[in-house]
Amino acid sequence: MSAIQERGTVKVENGRYRVQGAFSVIHPNSPIYNEAGRLVGITNPRDITHIHSYGGEAPFFESLSKGRLLGTRCDNPDCEYHGTRHVPFVINCPDCLQKAEIIDVTDLARETAKVHTFMVTERTGAFNTLKKPIRFINVEFDGVATILMGYLSLGEPEIGMRVVPIFNTEKPTFTILDLSWVPAGTKSEDLPDNFTFGS
Ligand SMILES: [Zn+2]
Repeated sequence: MSAIQERGTVKVENGRYRVQGAFSVIHPNSPIYNEAGRLVGITNPRDITHIHSYGGEAPFFESLSKGRLLGTRCDNPDCEYHGTRHVPFVINCPDCLQKAEIIDVTDLARETAKVHTFMVTERTGAFNTLKKPIRFINVEFDGVATILMGYLSLGEPEIGMRVVPIFNTEKPTFTILDLSWVPAGTKSEDLPDNFTFGS
């Protein structure tokens, strides 16, 4: 029987998670021998399914799959930083801790996004599936207090370079990797597989 078929899934019923299938699948082990051929241990292969709840950030990830970039704004009139816009999306205003208002910043990003700084790396974090070298860029927007980390899919990054967002709307993974950036003026036929300029 294939372990993939047994892999756990989660549904929501009456507001609660309902899990089905195996969340830890054990595969046959194998011995580890030393140079003299004596047993020193075994490997224990396991296929683990981790449940990652997005909570208040769920609208951000759902929106990427639909080709829109969301940010947030503090609308609390008593907040010293009332009106401050945050991208990346925050659930609560970091200044007054009130729940922030969700705003759509797709058009703002298309019109004003620039590379603030960047880093090209051959080393990646665990589970990072991007092709190396990875061109990580920090993206700034007009009228936004924060800077968004992302990755450039085409071209070479330069400080101040105008970039536009692209979205994995064809085969979304519902992770941050569904959002990427390309130099402004890129043609849609040059975009990576499954990516579009969004909606
Ligand atoms: Zn606030």
